[in-house]
Amino acid sequence: MTELHTNILKHHIFRDFYEFYPERFSSITNGITQRRWLKLCNPRLAQLITEHIGEGWITDLYELKKLVPLAEDRSFQKEWQKIKRENKEDLAEYVAQYNQNHVDVNSMFDVQVKRIHEYKRQLLNVLHIITLYNRIRAHPDGDFMPRTILFGGKAAPEYRMAKLIIKLISSVADAVNRDPLIGDRLKVVFLANYRVSLAQKIIPAAELSEQISTAGTEASGTGNMKLALNGALTIGTLDGANIEIRDEVGNENIFIFGLTADEILTLKSEGYHPLDYYESNPELKPTLDMIGNGYFSPQQPQLFQPIIDALLRYGDHYCLLADFASYIRCQREVDEIYKRQQEWTKRSILNVANMGRFSSDRTVGEYAEKIWKLKPVPVPDA
Ligand SMILES: *Cc1c(COP(=O)(O)O)cnc(C)c1O
Repeated sequence: MTELHTNILKHHIFRDFYEFYPERFSSITNGITQRRWLKLCNPRLAQLITEHIGEGWITDLYELKKLVPLAEDRSFQKEWQKIKRENKEDLAEYVAQYNQNHVDVNSMFDVQVKRIHEYKRQLLNVLHIITLYNRIRAHPDGDFMPRTILFGGKAAPEYRMAKLIIKLISSVADAVNRDPLIGDRLKVVFLANYRVSLAQKIIPAAELSEQISTAGTEASGTGNMKLALNGALTIGTLDGANIEIRDEVGNENIFIFGLTADEILTLKSEGYHPLDYYESNPELKPTLDMIGNGYFSPQQPQLFQPIIDALLRYGDHYCLLADFASYIRCQREVDEIYKRQQEWTKRSILNVANMGRFSSDRTVGEYAEKIWKLKPVPVPDA
């Protein structure tokens, strides 16, 4: 759990309990193991890193800081780019085999992999996809940064809305991928059976990491850490560990958008009216109308009506419409930076270089010290 979520527990969910026993609250940020999420899953990048800074990072992730001076080194950047490309080729081959889908390795690999849940807002990502689709169709000769948007994730068996969102993603994918006007400029892939072994194939190939939960809802997130450790840049809200990732990598190396957790609370207490956003944003209205009127489900025009009702009739609990404009604007900025491959690569290297704090070695160390009050002992040689 992160600082933000601990404060939500102290001041909202367990407010009176916290007044009696403040000392019983303590926050330790989650972590991931670099042995699985770099060394094992991304052997090419692991080797490049080891060649330049040695293998200390395998047991002390803060060693990655030694990559900072290499971030602007042209020949190092070239090697970095070559590895990302090879990882993308591997994933493209997997997609061809298991999804019968062709994806272009020259496009940006934009990845959202995590459980399907309304608070994680895969639906906001879909609204962006439909917006891009409409822009390309309105200006077929325009200059668009090609993207491949990949989703992975399971929904709980009884969670009907989440199942319907999966259906929407694959229906939008069908429409977009088959449209001759779109070509290779936009591809959408839903990868079946997301699980750790599949995450290990996707994450090394990811360039953009979608961490777009409604601020105040994601206790930490660890997918965000895995993706950044493999050189993806994050587009995200100020939620969970995204905040701590920003603190480590710096504001200039992450794409932040949307309302803060406090602003979400204020908006709701003052009365949130999603219809106002629907009526006033000229890109949002057609996007929602297409979902609602069966554009993506011509055989069953009402199929996705429950999604539109959740947003426009039942209050848009996760504030997608309030964050839509800011998200779309931020994605344009992502395109601009991606066009400048040298700048993008520098930011990618700096992300990896600043991931030291997110090792589970640090997490376990904090548990030992703060919670269990244990002192480390030397491990005798075997
Ligand atoms: C890391 C991981 C998650 C957690 O992802 P979040 O983006 O933090 O929700 C979920 N599923 C799998 C298979 C993972 O490897």
